[in-house]
Amino acid sequence: MNPMNCPICGKPNGCAAETKTAPADCWCFHERFPDALLDRVPDEWRGKACICRDCLAEAQAQANENLKK
Ligand SMILES: [Zn+2]
Repeated sequence: MNPMNCPICGKPNGCAAETKTAPADCWCFHERFPDALLDRVPDEWRGKACICRDCLAEAQAQANENLKK
């Protein structure tokens, strides 16, 4: 496991650290991460490894489903 892989699914997370762009421009800073998703990140990786877009999209879809209920 390393910070360039998603702590949830293990795939490359595409974070700015990996793509060599300025960290301030990382896509993850412009997204909202549902609490339910952050809860799935192991404690030792929280705040260190970025979650990938796939997992974020899945969690956001789930959050939207929950809002409809
Ligand atoms: Zn992921």
